Amino acid sequence: MSKFIVSKFGGSSMKDREAMYRSAEIAKVHNSHLIVVSATYGTTNQLVEISKVAPIADWKTCRKIFTKIKDRHISLAKALEVDQAAITDIESILNELKTLAKGINLLKDCSPKTYDSLLAIGERLSSRLFTECLVQVWSEKRVSYLDVREVMITDQNFNTARPLKNELRTQCQRKLLEARHGHQAFVTQGFIGASQDGLTTTLGRGGSDYSAALLAWACDADVLQIWTDVAGIASTDPRICNEAVPISEITFSEASELANFGAKILHPATLLPAAEVNIPVFVGSSYDPKSKGTWICEETKSKPLIRAMALRKDQTLLTLKNPKMLQTYGFLYSIFKVFNDHKMSVDSITTSEISVAMTINGQLNQEISKEFLKDLRDLGDLNVEESLSLISLIGNKINHTPGLASRVFNSIPDINVRMICLGASKHNFCFLVNNKDAESSIRLLHQTFIGQL
Ligand code: ADP
Ligand code: ASP
Ligand code: MG
Repeated sequence: MSKFIVSKFGGSSMKDREAMYRSAEIAKVHNSHLIVVSATYGTTNQLVEISKVAPIADWKTCRKIFTKIKDRHISLAKALEVDQAAITDIESILNELKTLAKGINLLKDCSPKTYDSLLAIGERLSSRLFTECLVQVWSEKRVSYLDVREVMITDQNFNTARPLKNELRTQCQRKLLEARHGHQAFVTQGFIGASQDGLTTTLGRGGSDYSAALLAWACDADVLQIWTDVAGIASTDPRICNEAVPISEITFSEASELANFGAKILHPATLLPAAEVNIPVFVGSSYDPKSKGTWICEETKSKPLIRAMALRKDQTLLTLKNPKMLQTYGFLYSIFKVFNDHKMSVDSITTSEISVAMTINGQLNQEISKEFLKDLRDLGDLNVEESLSLISLIGNKINHTPGLASRVFNSIPDINVRMICLGASKHNFCFLVNNKDAESSIRLLHQTFIGQL
C-alpha cells in the first residue's frame, strides 16, 4: 500500500487560477490521499469584515463586500472552466452567504454561532473549486469533494472549537477508507467543523494547519505536508529580517515553541496531533515545490543552541503586588482563580515573594476586559503595561548553557528589556521589549546567533 499523504494548501496556494493549478499538480505528483485547503487568499478577512460591518452599517455597505467575494469566486470558477454542477454549488454557497449577511444586518447581531457559519463560507467555496481543478489535472484518479463537517466533529465552543478526537477518528476511518486503499483522493476544508448537533464550528484563525494535522492523525497518515508561500520554516519571519535562513530540519518540540510564540507559519496547535503519533511534517512552498523545505520530526541530526526566533506583538504585562502576602500562602491560587473565572490564559510568568508578573497575549478592552482587571485589582496593586512584544529564542539546551543570557543582552545593549523568562523550557528563552524595539531586536539577535554561523 502506498504511503498515506495528507497535503494542506494555505490561502496563498488557493489565491487564483495559477496558484490552484500549481497546487493541484503538487497533490498529483505526491500522490496525496487527502487534500485540505484554506479559503482563497484574503477571503476569510473579508468575511470577518462582513461580521463587523453588517451589525452596524446599512445593507449597501455590506453588499459591497459580499459582491467582491461573489465576483472573485465566480470569475475563478469561469477561469477554471468548471462544469455547470460546480457553478450551481458555488452559487448556492454564495446565496447562503448573502442570506447570512442579510440576517446579521437585519438583526444587528452576529453571534459566535453565526460568525462560524459565515467564516466557513470561505473554505467551502475554495474547496469546491479546487476539487474541480484537481479532477481536471489528475484524470487517472477518482477525486471527490468531502464536506469536512461529516468527520471533523467538535465541541460547541464556537470560534475556537476543539475536536472530539474519538468521533473524528471513527468518522475518518469509515469515510476515508477508499483513500487508504489508494482508489480515491479527497479534497476537503481546513478550519471548519461541526458540532454533534450538526452546527458549523471553526477551530480559530489560521486553523487549517491544525485541521490537516488532526485529519492526518485520524487517518494514521504517514506524512503531513503543509504547502504555503515560503520555502519552509526560516530562522525568523522573513518579512522582519531579510537575513532569515531556511531551516532544513527541526524537532516537534522546537517547532511547537516557534508556533506558540508567534511564528505565523504554523497554527500553534498543529504539531500536537502529529507529534502524538510521530507523523513527520513537511513544510514547503507551493510556488517553488522543488525548493528544499523543512522537515519537522521527533529527532534531528543537528541540535543547535539557537535554531530560530519568533516575535509576538501587542502583549500586555500585568504586575500584581501585595506586601501582605509575605510568608503567607494562597496568593498565586487567588490570582489563577481570577484567570480561570474569566477564561484567560497566562503566557509567561515570574514571581517574587510579594509580586507576580504575567504576560497576556492581547490588549486592553479587546482580549482583556475591565471586569477581569477589576477582579485582579481586588487582590493587590495592579500595574498594567501595554504595547510590548515577546521575543523568543528557540533551540536546544537553552536552560543549561552558561553565558547565553549575557550574549543575548549584549546583542541588544540599548534596548530596554522588561520581563525575562528562562528556565522553564530547555527549548525556549523569552523576554519582553517595547513594540517599537521588537523588530530591530530580532535583527540584532539574528546577527549574533544565526547570521554568523
Ligand atoms: P498560509 O496561508 O499558507 O497558511 P500563512 O500566511 O499563514 O500561510 O503563513 C506563511 C507566512 O508565515 C509566511 O509568508 C511568512 O511571512 C510567515 N512566517 C512567520 N514566521 C516565519 C518563519 N519563521 N519562517 C517562515 N515563514 C514565517
Ligand atoms: N481561512 C482561515 C483563516 O484565514 C483558516 C486558515 O487559513 O488556516 O484564518
Ligand atoms: Mg496559515
